[in-house]
Amino acid sequence: MEREARVSEQPLVIKFGGTSVGDGAAFVRAAEIAAEAARERPVAAVVSAMRGTTDTLLGYAAATATVDAETNRTATGATHEGSVAELHRALYERHVRAAREAVSGEHFPKVDGRLRALLKELVEVLLAPAKNLEARRAAVAVYGERLSAAVLAGAISTAGASAEVVTADPIATDASYPEAEVDASRTRERCTRYVRPLLDEGLVAVVPGFGGRTPDGAQTTLGRGGSDLSATVIGRALGSEEVWIMTDVDGVLDADPRLVPDANLLPRLSYREAGVFAGLGAKVLHHRTMEPAAEADIEVTVRNTFNPDSPGTRVTAREEGPGIRCAALRRRLAVEVPCTDGHRSAASVVVCIGVPEKPDSRRGLRELRKAGIRVLHSGLATAGLVFAVRDEEAEEALRVLHGALVAGSRVEVA
Ligand code: ASP
Ligand code: MG
Repeated sequence: MEREARVSEQPLVIKFGGTSVGDGAAFVRAAEIAAEAARERPVAAVVSAMRGTTDTLLGYAAATATVDAETNRTATGATHEGSVAELHRALYERHVRAAREAVSGEHFPKVDGRLRALLKELVEVLLAPAKNLEARRAAVAVYGERLSAAVLAGAISTAGASAEVVTADPIATDASYPEAEVDASRTRERCTRYVRPLLDEGLVAVVPGFGGRTPDGAQTTLGRGGSDLSATVIGRALGSEEVWIMTDVDGVLDADPRLVPDANLLPRLSYREAGVFAGLGAKVLHHRTMEPAAEADIEVTVRNTFNPDSPGTRVTAREEGPGIRCAALRRRLAVEVPCTDGHRSAASVVVCIGVPEKPDSRRGLRELRKAGIRVLHSGLATAGLVFAVRDEEAEEALRVLHGALVAGSRVEVA
């Protein structure tokens, strides 16, 4: 494909999450985003499994892990072959239905052939006797990404940019399960060998996220939600300046919207803040995503596949000035708190992430008191301000502190 006005020679890495490839229509949108970006610069598209597929695969891996040698039945009572055939059918139908919607007649046969070949391999993995169950789990789990990558490559080709799947796992890891450690220098070599040549040919390189390879060639995974990390690891290996994490919300919100209905979009975050926030359970990013980005100074933008005009959240090295950026909960810490009524209650901590200003701590305590919430402990931590409260009051405390301290939502009272 001809690239008319290249804005950069640096490859852009675009990662599509499970809902961004959740059905045929989502594949179409994702493919359009990748194809449009590819008009201006080389693009590597890292893809998650279609939403729910990894859970299905892991469920089958667990259910078929032990097969009774006499009856040939799995833990669920099904015959081993029977349950594997059922999985094959369900996965084929799901992916081929998406491909029928997102892939043109010209490209469909290649995608269909690839789906069938992958599922044949998966069946072999499931039926083969396994010595190491953790390794078997990883070898099964990665098929979700391989299947979605096949469909995405077809969809991108349909959208007008030629695309090819990277079939060798470009990420090199150690052999720890289920969350392997990345080996950055071997990953760079593997990306040079398996990803770079596709980009040099002007193709969009579609990389299945989540998986890795040990030096012995064994399959590993980067842990649940790990394809965000795959994206920044590949970005670092390719010398990218930018990684987009495409998801189903407008970016990173300043609190969990399920707990704090008036959570706001964060336009910017530093690597450090994003890392702490993700580590405290912010669902939008895998907790280690920012490590390679910070190391290689890659700008990470979290954006909505379904609302591409929204600017999203930009994550860079830049630390904003003072202020609390976002708030998160750590539920039920191991410490037990004796209550005045003699009960013992588990404590939770609201962490207000950012650089607190002088009056923030007092303001937070005052607002909690007004809301009738007892503060068991409060103090300054490297992440920001922490307030320990009884677990029953933790969600309300999060809402109160979000309203009182988080910069984007704070109402100034005279
Ligand atoms: N598909 C994997 C999971 O569900 C990895 C990812 O989606 O990031 O955990
Ligand atoms: Mg995710």
